[in-house]
Amino acid sequence: MVQNLCTPNSLKLPIPIYEHYGAFKPNLNVRRLIEALLDSVDPEYLQGLGSIVLSSQLQLPRKDRRKKFLSRGRKHPVSRVLGFYRQCWKSQPASIELYVDKILAQAPSWWAHVPLVSFSLFAPVLFHELGHHLHKTRRPEFKEREDVAEGWEKKLTKIAFQKRYRRVMPFLRLLRVIIRLIRGRQEPKPTPSIHPPRR
Ligand SMILES: [Zn+2]
Repeated sequence: MVQNLCTPNSLKLPIPIYEHYGAFKPNLNVRRLIEALLDSVDPEYLQGLGSIVLSSQLQLPRKDRRKKFLSRGRKHPVSRVLGFYRQCWKSQPASIELYVDKILAQAPSWWAHVPLVSFSLFAPVLFHELGHHLHKTRRPEFKEREDVAEGWEKKLTKIAFQKRYRRVMPFLRLLRVIIRLIRGRQEPKPTPSIHPPRR
């Protein structure tokens, strides 16, 4: 009898994190950062999540880099994708993949060495995709799925920051404004909420 991996099963922590960057070399320990972010999450929210994959678009085959994905009724090039969620499918458990090169490219390279900045870059992307997982597995909400994911993104990012940086929250609010200004200079704006076509 084949185990159905798509039914909620017992929670297995820690969630495995795999790194497949190809030729890309991240300039910080992304695995440790993701582990810290996951530590801020209620373990129940991670139920059914099989793995987190840290990768780069450099290792994608050329044909995959030229693909376009549909989000909110619009087509976007894969170069604007920061991460995506794969729902559980047959024998493959659900997973989240983050394109580390694209996430780090949102800010000048030296900024990423500032823990607050790297936290700010990765938390929204990770928690947005976790939001899709929660929408799929935990709380059915009859809203546009991107709206649901964005709701979780804001909620979980806020919790993570409060747990880790409670004493410097006023400074963080200032930092958010600065990051928005930096992102605003980059055209087109990266879109984290794009997903591969449903299988
Ligand atoms: Zn999304």
